[in-house]
Amino acid sequence: MSTTRSSVTPISENAFDIARRQFDIAADLLHLDSNLRAVLRNCKRELTVNFPVKMDDGSIRVFQGYRVQHNIARGPAKGGLRFHPSVSLDEVRALAMWMTWKCAVVGIPFGGAKGGVICDPKRLSTSELENLTRRFATEISLLIGPDRDIPAPDVNTSPQIMSWFMDTYSMAVGHSVPAVVTGKPQSVGGSEGRMEATARGAVDVIQEFAKQRQFTLNGARVVIQGFGNVGSPLASFLQNLGCRVVGVAEENGAIYNPRGFDASRLRLYKRETGSIVGFNGSDPVYPVGVLELPCDILIPAALEGQITQRNADRIKARLVVEAANGPTTPEADAILGERGVVVVPDILCNAGGVTVSYFEWVQDLQSFFWDEDEVNQRLQKVMSRAYQSVARTADDHNVSLRTAAHILAISRVADATRTRGIFP
Ligand code: NAD
Repeated sequence: MSTTRSSVTPISENAFDIARRQFDIAADLLHLDSNLRAVLRNCKRELTVNFPVKMDDGSIRVFQGYRVQHNIARGPAKGGLRFHPSVSLDEVRALAMWMTWKCAVVGIPFGGAKGGVICDPKRLSTSELENLTRRFATEISLLIGPDRDIPAPDVNTSPQIMSWFMDTYSMAVGHSVPAVVTGKPQSVGGSEGRMEATARGAVDVIQEFAKQRQFTLNGARVVIQGFGNVGSPLASFLQNLGCRVVGVAEENGAIYNPRGFDASRLRLYKRETGSIVGFNGSDPVYPVGVLELPCDILIPAALEGQITQRNADRIKARLVVEAANGPTTPEADAILGERGVVVVPDILCNAGGVTVSYFEWVQDLQSFFWDEDEVNQRLQKVMSRAYQSVARTADDHNVSLRTAAHILAISRVADATRTRGIFP
């Protein structure tokens, strides 16, 4: 079966094509008029920058980066910054569009944006990384501001990088502007609970799903691809709920143990050694094969385009929880749907990060900070309400959770666009 599917004419796995195809499916069901479609299918602003960075050996390297704002009908643009060799303009466009839908699904008053720099931060020293961050912040600052566009962490960007970004912007305007980025360290205006917010929000959604669909979490086998900001706390949270984390993959290796790992010890091991490979009691497996390991819950928490028409037939999980953005192609969605595998979509599942980023922005603007319990309780309320709305929409329209989340989000953004009107 998989041979037949992988031999069909290849369909674009370009992330922006995929984001647009997902949009089209929901827009068709909404009977969205062609004018609004044209507005929402395109990104509002796209900035490409080529900027020099002084390296430690005295040489100058020119890097390319992007900041894309997809839509700002519901509020200022919001979205992370990615530092990775595979960043491209189309990837950033897709991620910006998904941010618009994500903010709308959870009902927070932001539009969608994303940024990225083509680089391999693992090959940069700390001072080179700081130089790159500060120069990139300056280059894109014409789009950025606490009322305009607020970046946050994404793949390979950290609270320290957000802190450099905030400092660079603040130096230019002559006073401290903590609300210009989120995901900062708490010493410079970061929020309690932001570091683990994406994982915590995903767990809130998983628990809502489990309650509603009578899916037993106690003893459920979990495989996680990506053990970074999102994947690693998620492993611990799921273990606390009684799940067994049996497989974990990172870029440089993957491990498997059918009896399950101690997630907290694995996190400690990674912190000490820089890798998950070699963890006590684990067998090494190929990172690409990890998605096909026997499990109940599969959690892509790395990059997009991981579950495609080439491997969807071989996924053994009953539930795919998209902690990453864009891990599943529309063709894979269809195959998983036919096989009865439920996919909890990215724009719902990983919205906990941007939700607590919103809380951080609100706290910064008010200079009034909440304790962690308050942050987590508010997050839980937002995530469970969003899940209920998406599940209801899925039932009403008899569609997948992904299409339901898109229907909900697109109708909210379309409504704001219609209500504001087209200027002039
Ligand atoms: P990160 O840089 O902290 O971690 C990424 C992880 O993915 C690392 O463990 C890396 O080794 C692994 N990885 C990369 N390529 C891989 C491959 N080919 N196979 C297996 N593992 C691979 O990034 P993150 O912040 O945890 O982001 C992960 C995903 O979650 C991304 O899709 C991101 O857009 C999404 N996301 C992040 C946040 C956030 O708050 N950080 C919020 C929403 C969504």
